[in-house]
Amino acid sequence: MPLLRTVATAVVHLSHVDNPGTFALPYPDSAQSALDSMVLTCLLLKAEPPRSVPQLVDWCTLRTVDNWVFPIPPGVAPPGSHLVDPTTRQPTQLCYEWADSDDTGLRRTGEENMHAVAAICREENCPEIYHAFRELLIKNPVLTGRELATLAARGKGLELLQQQIRAIYLPAPVHHMNSRIRTFTACGRCRFLLHRTLEGALVCERDACRSQGPVRRGREYGAEDSGGVFLLIRPLRQWVASPGHVELHLAKSLESVRAKVQLWPSYGSYGLHIVLPEGRSWAVEIKDWSSGALLGRTAVLPPQDPPYDRCVWAVPRGRVRAHHSYRDEFFRHSTGAARSGPDLVSTDDLRRAVRTIVAGAGAPSRTEPPFAPEGLF
Ligand SMILES: [Zn+2]
Repeated sequence: MPLLRTVATAVVHLSHVDNPGTFALPYPDSAQSALDSMVLTCLLLKAEPPRSVPQLVDWCTLRTVDNWVFPIPPGVAPPGSHLVDPTTRQPTQLCYEWADSDDTGLRRTGEENMHAVAAICREENCPEIYHAFRELLIKNPVLTGRELATLAARGKGLELLQQQIRAIYLPAPVHHMNSRIRTFTACGRCRFLLHRTLEGALVCERDACRSQGPVRRGREYGAEDSGGVFLLIRPLRQWVASPGHVELHLAKSLESVRAKVQLWPSYGSYGLHIVLPEGRSWAVEIKDWSSGALLGRTAVLPPQDPPYDRCVWAVPRGRVRAHHSYRDEFFRHSTGAARSGPDLVSTDDLRRAVRTIVAGAGAPSRTEPPFAPEGLF
């Protein structure tokens, strides 16, 4: 596992090199370290090693993680998954999860950005501005230069966070751009910028969007129009905006059956606070990780702010359907302390459980589905 993490970290660092075409020796430290470790491992196993960093990247692109020369613990990567997407040559969602699994990586950077914003909003006693900020990341992961400069025009107080927002929206990387006509295209589902495949097709970086069928084209951005194109940084796309889509949808769905739902309570202590009949409450977080095992390693209870009786982590149903052992892997890789921590369910099971509890308390629920006896509650 340390070797897999080392390679994934190197791949992520290499993807941040502005112009790989001008790449020159010496390699970045993380890339050299990953290459050294991989060569040594291959020699010990009498296997053909990669002879350069480009060959190492080819390795990560062409071989699925469960087909490397050394065995990996079962369940730590979905079968057939890659660290580098063969169609776009960009790190996959799994690669970012691995690169971050030493808990010192990009996800931590994203958390620091979120904590800084929460601190400012708390200081100003403005939960509505914090809420507007979360919605901005989810609904506008791409902003033009003009939109960035006129946040005040939205009328939601976001100008208070101008400096923090500018730090997390960076010029869109050129590998998203159609270099012939100099345009960027957003995903019609999540609004992230679509990636371009080696064949010139478009594809979304989110596993969730890919699983829903052919790519859907959204807004087009001219590279030079309206002051340029700015994209939310990857950690916040992957760990805030992407689950945020599910949070918004889930909140709406639960409110429709008259559950009391608060999104991002106490400046983002956790995802959703759900108050059930008889005053019981749940803390719910949406976790859209490709590896149940790596997710298990992060399992900790959020602060009791606001207080809750039970903590549930909800995973989009597609994850659980695609990998039936996802939940087992989550608990197998959780630390001892975390075993008394959050429960893990699919978003469908969560919806069903809340509907059943609310309906049982006599609240009207015209769309009540039958409760599945195999449900996790
Ligand atoms: Zn998408």
